[in-house]
Amino acid sequence: MTTALLWFRRDLRLADNPALRTALAQCERVIPLYIDTPEASDDGAAARWWLHHSLAALDESLQQKGSRLLRRRGDALEVLRAVARESGATAVYWNRLYEPAAIARDRTIKEALHADGLLAASHNALLLNEPWQLLKADGTPYRVFTPYWNAAQKRGFDLALHAAPAALPPLPTALHSEPLAALQLLPRIRWDSGLAATWRPGEAEATARLAAFIEHAVADYAEARDRPGQAGTARLSPHLHFGEVSPQRLMALVQQHLTTRRDAGLIQNAESWLRQLVWREFSHQLLYHFPHTVNEPLDARFARFPWRSDYMEDLSAWQHGDTGIPIVDAGMRELWHTGWMHNRVRMITASFLTKNLLIPWQEGARWFMDTLVDADLANNTLGWQWVAGCGADAAPYFRIFNPVSQGEKFDPHGDYVRQWVPELAGLPDRYIHQPWAAPIAPADYPAPRVDLKASRERALAAYAAIRR
Ligand SMILES: Cc1cc2nc3c(=O)[nH]c(=O)nc-3n(C[C@H](O)[C@H](O)[C@H](O)COP(=O)(O)OP(=O)(O)OC[C@H]3O[C@@H](n4cnc5c(N)ncnc54)[C@H](O)[C@@H]3O)c2cc1C
Repeated sequence: MTTALLWFRRDLRLADNPALRTALAQCERVIPLYIDTPEASDDGAAARWWLHHSLAALDESLQQKGSRLLRRRGDALEVLRAVARESGATAVYWNRLYEPAAIARDRTIKEALHADGLLAASHNALLLNEPWQLLKADGTPYRVFTPYWNAAQKRGFDLALHAAPAALPPLPTALHSEPLAALQLLPRIRWDSGLAATWRPGEAEATARLAAFIEHAVADYAEARDRPGQAGTARLSPHLHFGEVSPQRLMALVQQHLTTRRDAGLIQNAESWLRQLVWREFSHQLLYHFPHTVNEPLDARFARFPWRSDYMEDLSAWQHGDTGIPIVDAGMRELWHTGWMHNRVRMITASFLTKNLLIPWQEGARWFMDTLVDADLANNTLGWQWVAGCGADAAPYFRIFNPVSQGEKFDPHGDYVRQWVPELAGLPDRYIHQPWAAPIAPADYPAPRVDLKASRERALAAYAAIRR
């Protein structure tokens, strides 16, 4: 009997899974394997919480099909070799990851498995296009989004969908699997009740969320996406990060929906959403071509930027939603409680950290990587460098978000602030984004940590210094 290992990583689904499809086509028996490698413990706490539940959901789906998930711990190559030996597997299949460390590790593993005489093959399940498939005419990578988006549309997308296999071959009972709890993905001090109340990881929920978004929200996306007090976006980012649903499925189902309702407004809204999905592609190709940007600015001038160095107290206030700026505190508390923050508020909180507090963007990026359930190195690096003004297609540094006017524009009645900053719930709308201006400021809410006007000028002066 021919046997293959299917090494699951961030492709935790059975539908649209090219490595699974190939393994089933080539071999009679397929062994689904997840390896908890030592480097995985660097993942953030919120993402590890998600992973725990996503692995449980995947195992359940595999069992419904007659198989099960084998869980092992240790160095990936050693585990692959051991399971191949134990099962008599002659091939290993997986879907690719694009972070610099994962690329280097996978390349070494592939060479070593080949040298052992095993077949080792990888596929793309994470992106619509491989990062090397869309380049400018001169062969260099895109650094500006709109031409990238135009080129992606011109190339077109392969949107063939593949249902999950109806049944899977059973696994030999002798193959040992670590209990899920042994992976120690859940926090030791159980702070995760807010995550559990907000999310249900796994492929079934990802598919249901996608269907609900297409049915109820995509038609208003272009405007509603900027309203943090409304459920105007898909909230699919953690599902996408862990590969519980494919970007092809997102795009294909939206397009199917458009063909059934020929409505110009709907088409415009849907395109606005698909554009966001292509931002995800853009960020992955940037990280692939510019791997140093995880820690360093893409715009080299920013290496000399005069960030503050004595910022620990301000950083802690920002992290804990205690800055005295309502929309910033609301966002940071939403993040702490649910592991997610609305995109508009990610931009506002990031701008406040880097520009008003003059704290290096890397500090904010690290905090997000630890606290977001959708923590994604490519999207997070792009997001932070974009806001800080030092990345690809970045907002110009001198365009500094004013958190009061941003709040007034995008949360005009303060619904979002009232939800996350209950100390301010009793304030009338006109003061909700600037409680310090109210005739009686709430006693249990802090005064702003910085003066918005003076800190804006300090940031502009710092920017002028590097331009000189
Ligand atoms: C400072 C900062 C940090 C960020 N960190 C992350 C991160 O770690 N992980 C992450 O997935 N996103 C990150 N983003 C992008 C964005 O905020 C989230 O993808 C979005 O809020 C997810 O919510 P949604 O699924 O409802 O998005 P929707 O608006 O429904 O969009 C659909 C999908 O498109 C993708 N997408 C949307 N906006 C962006 C964007 N600006 N850049 C790249 N992809 C996008 C996401 O995969 C998202 O799920 C960050 C943005 C900023 C400004």
